[in-house]
Formats: sequence, structure tokens, C-alpha cells
Amino acid sequence: MKSICLCALVCSLAIAQPPQQPGTKWTQDQLLAAVAPARAGRKLTPHSWPNGARVAVALSFDVDNESYLLAAGQTSPTTLSAADFGAQSGLPRILALLDKYQLPASFFIPAVSALLHPEMIPAIEKSGRHEIGVHGWIHESPPAINDAAEEERLLNQAIDYLTKATGKRPVGYRAPGWAFSQYTLGLIRKAGFLYDSSLQAMDEPYEIVSSGQPTGMVELAIDWTLTETPYLGHGGTMPSPELLYQLYKDEFDGAYQERTLFVLTLHPHVTGHRAPIRHLDQFIAYMKSKPGVWFATCEQVARYVKTAQ
Ligand SMILES: [Zn+2]
Repeated sequence: MKSICLCALVCSLAIAQPPQQPGTKWTQDQLLAAVAPARAGRKLTPHSWPNGARVAVALSFDVDNESYLLAAGQTSPTTLSAADFGAQSGLPRILALLDKYQLPASFFIPAVSALLHPEMIPAIEKSGRHEIGVHGWIHESPPAINDAAEEERLLNQAIDYLTKATGKRPVGYRAPGWAFSQYTLGLIRKAGFLYDSSLQAMDEPYEIVSSGQPTGMVELAIDWTLTETPYLGHGGTMPSPELLYQLYKDEFDGAYQERTLFVLTLHPHVTGHRAPIRHLDQFIAYMKSKPGVWFATCEQVARYVKTAQ
């Protein structure tokens, strides 16, 4: 008997607990309320892009470096060094590549990344082509904070830091970890942001609706397939960037066909490595070879779609 009981104990420990499913008990009103804070509103793809371009391309970079590790209390020098790669080798290579093709890009920076690497912002600003947007104070998770006042404190701290460091108040917001809390949209509206680039309900620009009301906030949507962190680098599931860049190319071709918008989000501590940046170089060359591609910062795209309505 004793051995059977032991076996049952081991088995019960080995089998993962089924996930909690509170939503199964929610009323219809509760279900509608759950999705209400930030939903997709009207499409904002304009009838035409500047100079008759077929597609707008916004290259964006989330300059996380060590910030998200420090937010989690991680202080292992080895682990931090792999993220420090983003500032040491990654960002300089990315900026050199953008200079090679004379392209603009948007850099979303957790303020702590800039604090740890004060040379980054001047390096990004040097060409005069790039935009700097907000990506949290220390890449904190707004849903994990789950407190409007604390989220606002960190958001304002980040805005103040970047405003001081760049001499210009940022107009673009991308949530750390691309994760809104239920308070985030209200906070970024209050802070006066022109656009958000964290949600994913369409693969073209749209207006965010909150509790059924249009907000005027432009959404330049991103997507977990249009970034590299789940696929490359530490913990990534794809050994080569080749397949990933095939996917990016197919997505770009689709946006080109549909005459909408292609937003790519990359990270200097991952894409700055030799293999992925070679593929990024080739991909940019491919996009540049097509007629009618408008390369722009997210800010330029957001301003254009807002005035083109
Ligand atoms: Zn990030």
C-alpha cells in the first residue's frame, strides 16, 4: 500500500495542475467589460502614403538591454553582460546599418537603459533621422504592478528622464513587454502621447476605442511574429534567423500588396549579433529594391495617418 501511495504522490507532482479558468464563471457583462479597456476602432490606413508610396515601413527597436533583468532583481554579472551586449555591440551595429541605407527608425528605450548607457541617446540622435519613444522606467510590467498610481509614477519618471536626455518630450509609447494594464491607456492619454505601439488587433494603423468610446489614440500595431526574441538568442526556439526573415519578407510583401503598414520590432541585444544583423541587412536591401516604400519613424506614420483622415 505504501508504495502505491508514494507512486500516486509522485505522479500528482509530475502532472501539471490544470490552469484556473475564472472566465468560465463570468457573466456576459463581465466578459464584455474584460475586453472593454482597449479595443480596435476604425482603421487609419490612409488612401495614399506620402509621394504616392504603396506601403509605409516603420523599423523599430526596443532597447531593453539590462533593464528587464534589473526590474526582476537579477544581478548575475554573466546574465547582465549578455543584455549589455545590446549597448556595447548591438546598437552601434544597428545604427551603422541604418546609416548605410540612410533610413529612419524608432527606438523605444526604458529610461534605466539610458541611465546605464548615457552614450546611447547621443548616438541615436546623431543622424537626426531617428525617434526616441518611451518603453517604461525599468521595463516594469504594468499588469504585474496593477496599481494606477504606481504605474503613473514610473511612467512620468520615464517621460521626465527621456525628455531631459533628448530635449524633446517623447510622443510615442510602447509598453514594456508589450503589456497594458487596465490603467495604461488612460495614463498614456493623460500624458498626451500621440500614439501607442503595443497592441496587436490589426496589422494596419487603427484608433483605440476604450469602453466603446473612440480615444483619438493612434495604434501602430505590432505582433509577436514580427519580432525576434521568441525565436533567436537565449531561450529562442529557432536556431537560424533565415526562416524568421522569410516570414518577415512574406509579411512585408503582404503589406505591400495591401498598401498598408509594416512594423518590425527588433532588440539590439538579440538582433545586434552577427548572424541576425546580416539577415536584417539583406531584408532592408530587399525592401529598398521595391518601388514605393516609405520608410518612416513611428511618429511620422502616426502624424500622417492622423492628418490624412
Ligand atoms: Zn522591451
